[in-house]
Amino acid sequence: MSRVAIIGAGPSGLAQLHAFEQARLDGAAVDEVVCFEKQSDWGGLWNYTWRTGLDEYGDPVHGSMYRYLWSNGPKECLEFADYTFDEHFGGPIPSFPPREVLYDYITGRAKKSNIRSRIRFDTAVRWVDFDEATETFTVTSQTRPDAVTRTETFDWVIVASGHFSTPNVPEYPGFSTFPGRVLHSHDFRDASEFAGRDLLVLGSSYSAEDIALQALKYGASSVTISYRTRPMGFDWPAGIREVPALDRVQDRTAHFVDGTACAVDAIIMCTGYRHHFPFLRDELRLRTPNVLYPAGLYKGVVSTANPRLLYLAMQDQYYTFTMFDAQAFFARDVVLGRIALPPAAEMEADIAGWLDRQNTLTGPMDDIAFQTDYVADLCGRTDYPAFDLDLVREHFVAWEHHKDESITGYRDRSFRSPCTGTVAPLHHTPWWNELDDSQARFLRP
Ligand code: FAD
Ligand code: NAP
Ligand code: MG
Repeated sequence: MSRVAIIGAGPSGLAQLHAFEQARLDGAAVDEVVCFEKQSDWGGLWNYTWRTGLDEYGDPVHGSMYRYLWSNGPKECLEFADYTFDEHFGGPIPSFPPREVLYDYITGRAKKSNIRSRIRFDTAVRWVDFDEATETFTVTSQTRPDAVTRTETFDWVIVASGHFSTPNVPEYPGFSTFPGRVLHSHDFRDASEFAGRDLLVLGSSYSAEDIALQALKYGASSVTISYRTRPMGFDWPAGIREVPALDRVQDRTAHFVDGTACAVDAIIMCTGYRHHFPFLRDELRLRTPNVLYPAGLYKGVVSTANPRLLYLAMQDQYYTFTMFDAQAFFARDVVLGRIALPPAAEMEADIAGWLDRQNTLTGPMDDIAFQTDYVADLCGRTDYPAFDLDLVREHFVAWEHHKDESITGYRDRSFRSPCTGTVAPLHHTPWWNELDDSQARFLRP
């Protein structure tokens, strides 16, 4: 019997609570599961906040999502096998929902499995330590409104605190004298702020792609995207172009390494995030870039530094909610003793196999196959309900082609559910023309 601490009530922490609840219904319970959530509500990044910088208690704001954010992958690629979209919405809905709709879906399953009472809201984990003598963790948390600190003992700690909240913020010459806003995508909230402006976006991944499109959609005059390594190469709409790396900024003029230059009014750094765990002591802390297979995690979950310390969702993510479920069921079964961990050398060898393959990946198609195989490996080890994972892989491949065909039109496509077979209806309005992202408008037939 044991006590389990989960840090974070975003999609992965909620998946973990759900997994424990399913086992409890089958009669396999742990003594106590406590989920610590520093925000006042659940949903993690999907719990939208207008705040940036520090929050009302002086902690860094967790939220990195912005207004008018729509799913950038088909919902059929992230469907819960045990709580389908059809079940939640009572019928078929289009494949690319806006944020509010996915928030409703995630929290819908959490409400159904009745796990809210296990979450301590407004409670931040400040420090986690491990006592080798007793083989237990001490978790020090703080309730934020009254700053009361409490230290408790746990047998297992599951870190589900996310890794897209602490911005990676480079500096380029001239930033300190640039006469406009310089911000990171973590602090980007409303594209209409940049209407009529010439914008510079740094980066060449999902944030750069989506924020550039958003800015143009909501009225920016022009968006120049500067890549460090390689361009995204999409067939951009008029008003967006890609240029090589930024060299320096002089007054309002951005100079690029190919010798070209242009005047800009604001700079948004879409330069990614850092895995940041200020509450973990050095030996316990995962150190990794944003990759598909972080070193040091057996099955992408169990810390080799301390196998009673588990991590969820620390991978770069093609798969999201589905992968978090697969990890949460695996983590649960490790805690319950249903899955026995092999000796350390065997765990290292298993990790090495995945890392070797990761080193051979040459692009999105390889990445998709890799993460599909990873999710399949986990699903095969637990009683997570079966679904058509091959179809999900095919969906991701089709989605990549759709993006190449039309970067403004890929969200107008329809996919088939790997859980129910339901084919999504088309949205009533093309995404590029749809300025209203409310759930009421999205669900209108
Ligand atoms: P998070 O959602 O980050 O939740 C972590 C939780 O832990 C938060 O609630 C936080 O408050 C809490 N926490 C952190 N530290 C502490 C602490 N010390 N004590 C207590 N609580 C703590 N995925 C998709 O599938 N589709 C999308 O369209 C999509 N869009 C995205 C857009 C952006 C801009 C970003 C940044 C990510 C997007 N993602 C998307 C990926 C996203 O990472 C996942 O969907 C998902 O939110 C990850 O869940 P998580 O629970 O692991 O982390
Ligand atoms: P990311 O995928 O980690 O990409 C980081 C980018 O920053 C890379 O292109 C990298 O370029 C670049 N970069 C890093 N340091 C730089 C520097 N010093 N100068 C210039 N460029 C630099 O991070 P992300 O794009 O923020 O995506 C994070 C997550 O958010 C993803 O899971 C994504 O799916 C999600 N997201 C979703 C949506 C949506 O539409 N729903 C929107 C935004 C984000 P190199 O290639 O050179 O390393
Ligand atoms: Mg199975």
